[in-house]
Amino acid sequence: MDVRITIETTFDNGEKRTHQLDGISRPYRVTCPDGIGLRLEDGKRVVEQIQRAILCDQVEEIIRESRVCPDCASVRAIHDYRTRDLDTLFGRVRVKAARLRRCSCDARSAAMPGGPISPLAYFFPDRATPELQRLHAELGSRHSFREAARLMKSFLPCHPPHHTTVRDRLGRVAAGLEKSRRASGDPAEALPKGGLTVFLDGAHIRCRPEYQ
Ligand SMILES: [Zn+2]
Repeated sequence: MDVRITIETTFDNGEKRTHQLDGISRPYRVTCPDGIGLRLEDGKRVVEQIQRAILCDQVEEIIRESRVCPDCASVRAIHDYRTRDLDTLFGRVRVKAARLRRCSCDARSAAMPGGPISPLAYFFPDRATPELQRLHAELGSRHSFREAARLMKSFLPCHPPHHTTVRDRLGRVAAGLEKSRRASGDPAEALPKGGLTVFLDGAHIRCRPEYQ
């Protein structure tokens, strides 16, 4: 049998669009136990394609809606387009991100001309979804950074993370948590009963005969 996968987007303005994804083929005569149902590699490929279709449509809608000035409702001109690679749990998606000119009603642009506005910067401050960053931080705190990167590559269609990316994201998430704790005025938490658990990352040290 052959399975066809189609997804349909309905934008907030009522416009509809369909995306045809790669299908799945399971010829009966050559089906083996390993070909029953959706396999991991099929799932990763399908989810990656769904993510690409959704994200590209969403970016298009964000740019279109962002062009309307929130103060005077006039349409802001497009300054230029930049290519951006956005990292998500379900793959790296390359998008054409428009930058907008400031509206003439913007007091800042009269007094102090500002640069173009990038609507996507708000949604992707680190060019990665917060969900992906949180998973990097969580797996990086439970496993070695290399093992965390390997686990993500095994089960998700995300762009294979480098172990230093896992380490850096864990550091940023930890710093963000500490910053929000200080901002809220909470005192530092007392050490839990039984002491503090410290995780040490593993490393491979090349064996050199002269350094026994
Ligand atoms: Zn305006």
